[in-house]
Amino acid sequence: MRAVKGRVLSVASECVPLLKTGGLADVVGALPKALAGQDWQMRVLMPAYRGLVGRLNGAEEVWTGGDLFGGPAIVLAGEVDGLDLLLLSAPHLYDRDGGAYSVAGADFADNPERFAALSWVAAEIARDGLGDGWRPQILHAHDWQGGLAPAYLRYGGASEVKSVITVHNIAFQGLAPAAKLGALRLPASEFHPSALEYYGNISALKAGLVTADAITTVSPTYADELMRPEFGMGLQGVIAARAAKVRGILNGVDTEAWDPAREVGTVPYDARRLGRKAENRTRLLAEFGLGEVPGPLAIVVSRLTDQKGIDLIPPVLPDFIAAGGGLAVLGTGDPHLEAAMRGAAAAYPGRVGVRIGYDEALSHRMFAGADAVLVPSRFEPCGLTQMYGLRYGTLPVVAATGGLADTVVTASPMALATGAATGIAFHPTDALALGQALRRLVQLHAQPVQWAAMQRTAMRQPVGWETSSAAYAALYSELCG
Ligand code: ADP
Repeated sequence: MRAVKGRVLSVASECVPLLKTGGLADVVGALPKALAGQDWQMRVLMPAYRGLVGRLNGAEEVWTGGDLFGGPAIVLAGEVDGLDLLLLSAPHLYDRDGGAYSVAGADFADNPERFAALSWVAAEIARDGLGDGWRPQILHAHDWQGGLAPAYLRYGGASEVKSVITVHNIAFQGLAPAAKLGALRLPASEFHPSALEYYGNISALKAGLVTADAITTVSPTYADELMRPEFGMGLQGVIAARAAKVRGILNGVDTEAWDPAREVGTVPYDARRLGRKAENRTRLLAEFGLGEVPGPLAIVVSRLTDQKGIDLIPPVLPDFIAAGGGLAVLGTGDPHLEAAMRGAAAAYPGRVGVRIGYDEALSHRMFAGADAVLVPSRFEPCGLTQMYGLRYGTLPVVAATGGLADTVVTASPMALATGAATGIAFHPTDALALGQALRRLVQLHAQPVQWAAMQRTAMRQPVGWETSSAAYAALYSELCG
């Protein structure tokens, strides 16, 4: 066995396979395995929401504290699907009906305390280690729920342990009224605009951004965008002030789960056997009740929200359909966008098919069968579906923002000539630019040799975790320097 370079405590509110509400959980669950390949050992601390303790194999108590924000708490270490997990069991905070953050659509009123408690314990473990003798060199917090961990570490006095905060979604900032300062165990002396205060409130995310030794977000372009008012959601100044400490590291995708050569329920194919994709296309058309589509068959697999630019699709459909295109949509979200998608299917029977719902298996069949995937997001910290598209030779048509801009090489004449092109990126995110991108898609699709060359280039892109985990490992090494 190779020597471990260092140890990292990762703290987050969700982690695959135990609990997922978004991409955050995928990243938190994938990083430990990816980092093991870089000789960094990572353990993940998350809350023991109801029912989770029973899923931990070989559970062992490794930490116990006194009163934790109103009740007793212990940390249990154990394993789930090969992942080394630390569950913070504090029944008064986490053992309740509902999801991780809310019940029946209403956020828990004590969310500030619930995630302050998680962050507090993370900082304690970082400082003093666990009962099994394990001590980290790095504390890695995710989003606002982990945001106070670097703050507690910093305000608790000198420590050798370095901290990192990763922003997966700047829209959630963990606000709490200033009156909670004492209850959240935060020093009143730090309640000012250069530290904890955000327009009169406490912001857990801001606390992490100002106290962590390094800040990361999930793509290089989004790292730049976050320093601008259009994307920073009020925190642009805070992030810009620490620009030298900010780094964008792309997420990876699980290349075992997303592998066209090993899909169940489809005809397997790879870059050398691209012809086989045609059978998957035929099956996909049938599954969506579509007729013949002479041009490119595009898909959308997405939350149906304004962020994702779904409202831009109906206005561009008349031209796209007239040019021979077809569209299959899988998604769920805002009722008015669901209705708009249903309306599109009704307007173009045989050319546009829509499934409202969440269906992982169907999403795989869609990537295996389609020609292109549309991702017209207004903002996109990283984005995963464009990377699935690359891996499946299902060329991405994306808005040139965030991680979409960082992962897709647009088919400019130069990129085509050098064989670098992997899709189409358009700017700005509006219906005019999307319409132009779709016209370009139709043209490219009509040139089979060039199209296949783009598909092969796309399928060669390194969308797995290797590059990203190396970047995290390099950051940790620098911090420990
Ligand atoms: P976000 O996290 O903002 O929703 P991402 O592209 O980062 O966007 O991740 C979305 C993930 O959820 C992808 O894995 C995508 O395939 C999946 N997904 C979204 N909607 C659906 C759906 N209706 N059915 C199946 N998978 C979906």
